[in-house]
Amino acid sequence: MKNNIKKIAVLTSGGDAPGMNAAIRSVVRSCAFYKIECVGVYRGYQGMIEGDFKQMDARSVGNIINKGGTILKSARSDEFRTKEGRLKAFHQLKMEGVDAFVVIGGDGSFTGAMIFNEEYDFPVIGIPGTIDNDIYGTNYTLGYDTALNTVVEVIDKIRDTASSHNRLFFVEVMGRDVGHIALNAGVGAGAEEILIPEENIGVDRLIESLRKSKKSGKSSSIVVIAEGDKTGKNVFELAEYVEEHFPFYEVRVSVLGHMQRGGSPSCFDRVLASRMGVKAVETLLEGKSNLMVGVTDNKMLLTELDKAIKGKSKINKELLRVSDIMTI
Ligand code: ATP
Repeated sequence: MKNNIKKIAVLTSGGDAPGMNAAIRSVVRSCAFYKIECVGVYRGYQGMIEGDFKQMDARSVGNIINKGGTILKSARSDEFRTKEGRLKAFHQLKMEGVDAFVVIGGDGSFTGAMIFNEEYDFPVIGIPGTIDNDIYGTNYTLGYDTALNTVVEVIDKIRDTASSHNRLFFVEVMGRDVGHIALNAGVGAGAEEILIPEENIGVDRLIESLRKSKKSGKSSSIVVIAEGDKTGKNVFELAEYVEEHFPFYEVRVSVLGHMQRGGSPSCFDRVLASRMGVKAVETLLEGKSNLMVGVTDNKMLLTELDKAIKGKSKINKELLRVSDIMTI
């Protein structure tokens, strides 16, 4: 491997996601394996600006592979959005003797990394860590699989009460711009209808579909809604509207919120994080930069940060058809 890299920094930035700790562990241990130094940066880019660094070695990341959240803490830093802020961060990295960094986060964190790379020609690699799975260049982001499992587990519980009381439940899940969580968890939990930002089925079709379900003998139903669905009504307004049309049902709303981000990462996320961390360090050691590590068709692939940020991650439309067939 050809490079001048002797010390790599690792940070988590933006919203936390299960699997971030497993990725930190992987970056730190890969550095140890290749006999280069590694420092953890606390509180994302804000910690970088303030020089909040901690030397890490293979032993300092013991017993974290199974932990949710991020031991390095995450933060949003407005100061890093300014030239002055990034200059401070650059000075701190130089003072610490850091030659490159790996940032684990979403598209905002990658934008910051890309701008920093442009300004200081500083080697950077991104690892996609966000439960929304909304990053182009990877089939899966860290935390997405765990979030799906969390949502399915909760909907299973909601189903118990729904079926005991002839209730119609609206379950809102995360996904402002993309419906990956709603679509996959909806199919996995056997939801009657799934509302996602990518497809506006319209309120009338929802009513029609629920009417059909009722006619076919169902006494309870679950509708999964992504935060960013396009019906034009929020989940409470939607529930009220539907209740007017279905006096038979008691309509209830459950907004899952931040619980979707928590919990111990699934095996899938731990394995993915381990692979991404190794690939991130090896990519830097090969002298490459400004790339995001991703997994496509089970292969570790690299995508330019610019493309990862600008590209659109697409939902699997086949799942909409599967959902339709399953809810006959
Ligand atoms: P999530 O998907 O959870 O929102 P994210 O990485 O997209 O994660 P952001 O809050 O958008 O989260 O970005 C994280 C941090 O990255 C910001 O707080 C800021 O410090 C930095 N950042 C984002 N956009 C820019 C930018 N245009 N220029 C410089 N830094 C940026």
